Amino acid sequence: MIIFNQDVINNLFYILLSIFLIFFLVEKKTVIGWYSKLVTTLSFSLAIIFCMLSPIYQNPYCVHDLRMIPFVLGIMYGGPFTGFGLLVVLLASRTMLYGWSFVAFVIYVVMFIVTIALMRWFKFAAMTSRQKIIFSVILFTIHSINSALIAKYLTVFFIDQNYVINFILLPSLGMLIITYICETLVKQIHMNRALVKMEKIEVLGQLAASISHEVKNPLTVMKGFLKLLNEKNIPLEKKEQYINITLSELNRAEEIIHDYLAFANPNSEQLEEISVEEQLSKVIDLLEPIILQHSVSIKKGLEPGLIKGNTRSFQQAFLNIIKNALESMPQGGDLLVTSLVQQNKVIIAIRDNGKGMSPEETCRLGEPYFSTKETGTGLGLMISYRIIEAMKGKISVESQIGKGTTFFIEFVEARENSSS
Ligand code: ADP
Ligand code: MG
Repeated sequence: MIIFNQDVINNLFYILLSIFLIFFLVEKKTVIGWYSKLVTTLSFSLAIIFCMLSPIYQNPYCVHDLRMIPFVLGIMYGGPFTGFGLLVVLLASRTMLYGWSFVAFVIYVVMFIVTIALMRWFKFAAMTSRQKIIFSVILFTIHSINSALIAKYLTVFFIDQNYVINFILLPSLGMLIITYICETLVKQIHMNRALVKMEKIEVLGQLAASISHEVKNPLTVMKGFLKLLNEKNIPLEKKEQYINITLSELNRAEEIIHDYLAFANPNSEQLEEISVEEQLSKVIDLLEPIILQHSVSIKKGLEPGLIKGNTRSFQQAFLNIIKNALESMPQGGDLLVTSLVQQNKVIIAIRDNGKGMSPEETCRLGEPYFSTKETGTGLGLMISYRIIEAMKGKISVESQIGKGTTFFIEFVEARENSSS
């Protein structure tokens, strides 16, 4: 009877090492997406191979180690593609080490399919930490029992007390501990990222002085050109050039001041009922000049809905988001603005088919001074995010380079006759 021998400890050690490696590499970069998936696949592959090299016990019918843990963890935290990569690594290395086994093949393919099916069924991504831990233990117990039944059905296999302890209880207990550690680390990563954003916003306050400095630059340029314009005998074309430069510098100064003032004074104290469809239509009307300039076609699907907040701030927040969408389609395109009311929530979606963003860029949205535009201030979305968060709204973004971007904003619905 084996419960905790040196090999069990070795197996757990390899799994922990791979988890810390993933945490270290993902936490260092603020990048998510393919990078973290690749790191997850490679680290868990190593854990699977090392676990197999350190079997807990071996007999003619089975080799037992904890390779199932990194395999299932990989599917849970890395998704189906990572899971599929791990399945291939697992089957290939198992065949190389112990020869081909049809039973092992069936067991792992079933494990892969059942994990993905149950994750979808129980909406794993939306679970709380505690629910994920409970889910992983139950899932693991199901896998252990399933595997035993498959082995019993396909080969000569005896389920005894040893089997129950080592194949069902031990891996499930290991999974409990490991998922708990994973969840703690994931929380840590999220907290660190939130902290970085908060620190940046604090720095912004101290940078108010530098904004005035930024405004001074266009002002100095404008002053110089106005002086030149004041001179006699300037050719007409030069005059036009000076006026154009002065106007573009004026626009830039105006934009910086406008964005900054809106951030410093989000006006969120006066609460009123906002009619979402009415205010979104107003914002679209305000943007008419840019819409015409970019030859964008607008489609509206606005369902009436009420929320609580400050009307001016609401307009400001959506003006910035819709303006960005229009600016992402300089050669024209379609802008879709929709709102719908669902289960006490008002959900607004702003979809463009413009240039889109990479996952790295999407991650940085809302950070002060993040801009990919030559004359961008990088303050617009920061203000929108701040206003929407002050109104207890939630923002999520889906974007694909070359395809377009969709901003989803969700607010709690205000009932028409509810007292404030
Ligand atoms: P700015 O517009 O001055 O650059 P913002 O804070 O409004 O600053 O936006 C920050 C950045 O986010 C933009 O520079 C752009 O790269 C990106 N962005 C925002 N919305 C979109 C969108 N709909 N499509 C593509 N990129 C976007
Ligand atoms: Mg902008």
